[in-house]
Formats: sequence, structure tokens, C-alpha cells
Amino acid sequence: MQELPVVSLGDIMSIYTNYLSGVRPDGGHHDEKISAHVAIVGSGPTGCFAALAMLKCVPEVRITVFEARPTPYGLLRYGVAPDHQGMKNVTRQFERLFGSNQVEFVGNVRIGQDLPFEVLQENFDFVVIATGLPSERALPVPVHPGAKVWGASQLLRYLNADPDSDLRTRETVELGDSVLIIGSGNVAMDVARLLAKSDEGFDGSDVDDAAREALAPSKITRITLLSRSPYEQVRWDPSMFKELCSIPGVEVYLDGRRSTEETDTSSGPTRHQPLRVEVFFNQKLREIDLQEDNAYDNQLIVRTQNGTSDAHLSAESPKTSFRASAVIAAIGFEERRIGFGEVPADNVLRTGGCATGRLGNLAENRALAKQTAQLVAAKVGKQSELTGLAGVAPFLTQTPVSFSDWKAIDEAEITRARPGRIRQKFTSWSEMSDVVAQTRS
Ligand SMILES: Cc1cc2nc3c(=O)[nH]c(=O)nc-3n(C[C@H](O)[C@H](O)[C@H](O)COP(=O)(O)OP(=O)(O)OC[C@H]3O[C@@H](n4cnc5c(N)ncnc54)[C@H](O)[C@@H]3O)c2cc1C
Repeated sequence: MQELPVVSLGDIMSIYTNYLSGVRPDGGHHDEKISAHVAIVGSGPTGCFAALAMLKCVPEVRITVFEARPTPYGLLRYGVAPDHQGMKNVTRQFERLFGSNQVEFVGNVRIGQDLPFEVLQENFDFVVIATGLPSERALPVPVHPGAKVWGASQLLRYLNADPDSDLRTRETVELGDSVLIIGSGNVAMDVARLLAKSDEGFDGSDVDDAAREALAPSKITRITLLSRSPYEQVRWDPSMFKELCSIPGVEVYLDGRRSTEETDTSSGPTRHQPLRVEVFFNQKLREIDLQEDNAYDNQLIVRTQNGTSDAHLSAESPKTSFRASAVIAAIGFEERRIGFGEVPADNVLRTGGCATGRLGNLAENRALAKQTAQLVAAKVGKQSELTGLAGVAPFLTQTPVSFSDWKAIDEAEITRARPGRIRQKFTSWSEMSDVVAQTRS
């Protein structure tokens, strides 16, 4: 959402200036004593956990959370599987966070683009960078340019109704009858489960039904997962594997043998079409090509070599070919530091994936965020000399989205949910902009 032509930038800025000078937009007053103004860049789980922890350990702190998108919560909204609402419910804690008069959400402002990073440094006592790890790792093998090969997080973004998902602009995204997933971690399990479940299996979720329909998962008869490591070293959680095995109508095989996982498949919605899920271990990916003969139109050939580790592979190692109509790569995120270069100042802290080079799960990122808050607590003075958000407002080139704007979007999505779903997300920024416009007018 780039433009919000409803309230002028000047109006928005005066709201923020009033807020910072002691009058909140709701007319209430807050304490003048401010120990530190903290800017957090990124409203994903790590940024929100950091703000929550700071409220506990930094007295009289004022926090502004800047977010590039109009919507908060990062991958919690657009990455975590839509049928795992228990996980997504952590947003309830974050809602309470933004209800605090010490915390402000400034959405639709990309730091480094809509607001220079240096302006944050000049106006805030501390800047915490919590921008996550946005880039999926590329497959390290030759891939035919015509092959239908997508990253797992693109698929998850699509099913989570992300307006910016690459798949949204493709002419056809139908997956065909056999999907091959590269990887054996939890995201690979998410992909397999989401494609295996029947429509009714998504009751109580906020999946994008139009995206599911376009992918046509009901036509899939075989899902193959290729694990580079041996069975003993798979990275999926046992509970994730069990969940997959529990889907009625799904049969899971490990290296050709029927899984002995004890599950109850007597209840729950059954797939209309039986599905075979096969996992093969010790598979080192070599190449993804298009099938040359005409017998299998648009089919892909995935070639691997078999060995327990790279050290055990040689030209003589056995080779295997797998046929698939689409390939989903679930091999993780790029391990690199991103954004704003290497900022040397000691009032700038990085936390979460952009600090460690690993995306990590929610629990890991919560722990990192807590450590960051403690670092701020150790350095904070008695009284801030800076103005925080009021100081940066004149530099904003975008109309920001406030937390109450977001709540209007949130409520509209819940209101328009179809039966069996808890919300229907908007799939374009302009629809969200319209909701905000109506609420503000
Ligand atoms: C497909 C998938 C499924 C997952 N499932 C689970 C699960 O079941 N359980 C679990 O524990 N974890 C899961 N995770 C991991 C979880 O999503 C991450 O631990 C968590 O999202 C990391 O939070 P973060 O805030 O560091 O990054 P993000 O969630 O990526 O948030 C970063 C935020 O920073 C914003 N941003 C970036 N650059 C700027 C900028 N310049 N200016 C302003 N804002 C900016 C982004 O827009 C984004 O909102 C999953 C991840 C994926 C990809």
C-alpha cells in the first residue's frame, strides 16, 4: 500500500507530534518523564517480543515500531501456516502491546526508503533492527528455466494471501498430480500437510481459498519429499510428522516402507483422492530438468545422488531420478546480514534473524529479543534528551498506517470471513487502503 489519500500527511504528523508532546490522539495525557526513545525497525514477532520485553525491563521507555508494510506481525501473518492458528494467536499479546500508551505502530514506512536510517539514529536513543531474513536460499544446482520450481515461503505467502506473493501474478499455478518437496524440515512438513489436507481440513483457518483453488491440491496423488540427511537426522519436529500421518486418506512411506507412526485417522475430513506421501533420505540434489520425451508433458525430472554425506559421494554413487509436475524448495533462508550495512554506532542493535543469519522459530526469536531488551536496559539513562517520533515526522514521505488503521483492516477481514474460516484476508494493498479511507472519513 503506497498511497493513503485520505488524511493528509500534515494531519498524521500533527497527531504524532501531539502524541509526543504529551497529548495522545485519544485526548489523554501521559507522563512527561521519558528515559529513552527506542525505534524498532520491523513489527514481526522479534520486533514485537523486543518491545514487550522492553516495557518490562526499561522504565519510562517510549517505543516506536516502524513497519514497511501497512500490516503488522511479519511472517506470523504471511509465513506461518494458516491452519496453525494456535501459533498465530501470539498476535493477541502483540495487540495488548500496541494498546500501551508507551508504544506506537508506524506502518507503511520502509526504513531506508521512506525514512533514512540516519534520521532514526539522530532522533532515538536506541534503534533496534528486527527485519528478519527475507530471502529464501536458492537451489545450489542447475534448474531448467522452464521448470515449475518455487520456494516454500512463496507458496506459504500465497496461501496466506500475501498481496506481494510472486505466485499471485502468474497465469497458472496449478501444481499437477505429483509434487516434489526438497527439504525435510518443518517448513517442508507445512507444505506437505497444506497440500494433503482436504478443504474441510481448513475449518477454523484463515487460508486464502482462491489461492488453494488455483493450486488445485485435490488433484495431487503423490507428494515426494527428498531429505539430504539420513532418517535419524531429519529436522522436522515429531509432532509435525505425526500431524501429516494423521490426515485421513494419506499414506506415508519412508524409503519405500509404510510409516509405522501410530496415528488416529478415524476422525477428521478425508481427502476425496487418496494421497501417497513418500520420503527418501540421503538424497543429494544434482539437477532439475524438463522431461524430454512427449509422454509426460511439462513433467520435471529431479536427479539426485545417494550417500549419507557429501564426503561419501563419488562419481560411482548411485543416482536416482524422480518425476514430478512441480517442485517446492524448502531449504531455508539466506544466511546473511541484511539492511543498513554494518552500522557501527553503539546505540544500534540487531536482533532475530538479521542478527544471527538464521530465521529461527518464535521461541528462539523471543529469547533473542529479550536479550536485546536487557542490553537496552543496561545502557539506558535517566532522562532522554531526544524527541523520538516527533523528530522524525517531518522526514516521512509516506502517509503512515497507525495501529487503529490496522485494527480497521483486521475487523473488516474478520467480518467478511466465509463460513468455516476465521477471516478472509485482503489480497491487495488497495483494498486495505480503501478500508482505512472509509474508517478515517
Ligand atoms: C513458512 C514458514 C512457516 C513458519 N512456521 C513457524 C511455526 O509454525 N512456528 C514457529 O515458531 N516459527 C515458524 N516460522 C518462523 C517464524 O515465522 C519466525 O521465527 C519469525 O517470523 C521471525 O520473526 P522476525 O520478526 O525476526 O522476522 P519477520 O517475521 O520476517 O518480520 C520482519 C518484519 O520486518 C519488516 N521490515 C523488513 N525490512 C524493513 C524496513 N526496512 N523497514 C521497516 N520494516 C521492515 C518486514 O516487513 C516484517 O514485517 C515459520 C517461518 C516460515 C517462513
